[in-house]
Amino acid sequence: MLNKELFYNTIKDYKINIDDEAYSRLDRYAEILVETNKQFNLTAITEPDDITVKHFADCLAIFNYADFQSGAKIIDVGTGAGFPGLVMLLCRPDLNVTFLDGTGKKLVFIEKVMESVGVTGNILHRRAEDAGQDINFREQFDFATARAVANLSALSEYCLPFVKEGGLFISMKSASSDNEITDAQNAIKTLGGEMLDNKMFDLVENTPRRIILIKKISQTPSKYPRASSKISKNPLK
Ligand code: SAM
Repeated sequence: MLNKELFYNTIKDYKINIDDEAYSRLDRYAEILVETNKQFNLTAITEPDDITVKHFADCLAIFNYADFQSGAKIIDVGTGAGFPGLVMLLCRPDLNVTFLDGTGKKLVFIEKVMESVGVTGNILHRRAEDAGQDINFREQFDFATARAVANLSALSEYCLPFVKEGGLFISMKSASSDNEITDAQNAIKTLGGEMLDNKMFDLVENTPRRIILIKKISQTPSKYPRASSKISKNPLK
């Protein structure tokens, strides 16, 4: 299903080693993705070469920017069809990944893939702004990840409450505007974060991507995250 040569070529300089077993898990994931996508919309990217690069290699780039210790607790916020969380888990089954999404059908798909390839993760069918106020999840994670979920100000309000002090929130985006990042600076501070790094990289030629690393340096004030209507109508500035 995946394009093996293209896959290993694209990730040749990545700081993650994908052995044959991990590669077959990814391949099976791609197969189930395309199959399930015929019944309901999980992704607009369905061509094997595109899945190989735009989904899998893109998500794996996260390993170039942070060290994930064995057993690290990760929450993938707005995971959708499992990006980047499920790609990470299939390559590093030693990680403790929680998949959060407001749409149950997508989580059923993730469960199906995990069962099919024999890995274990946690499913959380909640809105991020609700789960972020729940003591079972608030400030419980070493990492929060999110790819293509919301603008950085709203996304920080969704994600930073989950992260422990000293942990990281990692946002993966297409080449979003510098304005979005400038506008989110105060929100990040208010929520207990500090911008560590903001990197652009070319996934392949002419495909710029951005990865933003925000460290949690103090507890998030209890009034955040606010209700979703407030987050969208009155974004933190
Ligand atoms: N991260 C995936 C990717 O890169 O392909 C999915 C991106 S998709 C554009 C955004 C996902 O975030 C959707 O699955 C949506 O249900 C979920 N989502 C958006 N806002 C959310 C919220 N406040 N709480 C939970 N899930 C949310």
